[in-house]
Amino acid sequence: MKAGTNGKRMIVFSLKTATQLLANFILTLALTGSAYADSASWQGVVLAVLEGDTILVSRDGKKERIQLYGIDCPERGQDFGQVAKNYAEQRLAGRTIDVEPAGTSRRDRNVALVFLDEELFNLELVRVGLAWVRMQSCTMPDCKGWREVQKGAKRRRAGVWSDLNPVPPWEYKRSTASKKGVYSGNILTHVFHATSCEEFDCNNCIAVFHGRDAAIKAGYTPCDLCKP
Ligand SMILES: [Zn+2]
Repeated sequence: MKAGTNGKRMIVFSLKTATQLLANFILTLALTGSAYADSASWQGVVLAVLEGDTILVSRDGKKERIQLYGIDCPERGQDFGQVAKNYAEQRLAGRTIDVEPAGTSRRDRNVALVFLDEELFNLELVRVGLAWVRMQSCTMPDCKGWREVQKGAKRRRAGVWSDLNPVPPWEYKRSTASKKGVYSGNILTHVFHATSCEEFDCNNCIAVFHGRDAAIKAGYTPCDLCKP
């Protein structure tokens, strides 16, 4: 009987310890501003290509959704949307890649430079004309060079540039969303935006609301900038 009592105590004790450890861990995260601060390059295997610029990578057995830094592939409903996805699939699926986090804040810690055989895949997509360099998010010094690569693709009329005036994916997204009365919600801050807002397609703005009321009902607050 005594042994049983002791055993119970042991369990209570270890639960307490575990809770304490978890609390400490959360506190550490809060103080250091997350794991982002010390995130260095890592290697992983590409499990799936969701879009040309969005992939699912296995990192130590865990799945991570990675957004390719600084670029934007044509949307699914656009010309070359499927081509871009297929291209990325052929190049990356099942391959081991190097991932270098490149997001500028804790919010976009899943934004990264992706290297395949030591070549930067983000830039490869631009070179073959299957991605735009996104001025708004491509802010590191190298981006100047990336835009030159894009000009080259344009001159060769590669991929999307076979059309002289292709619609950039961010404009396409906005125009289809505003037609439908769609608002986007930031899943971390619970703020929602109209299509006219520069924050409309921020990295965490992935909640979609049809109509303003739906956003309010879901507990989201209107953005101070776009005042939806
Ligand atoms: Zn806004």
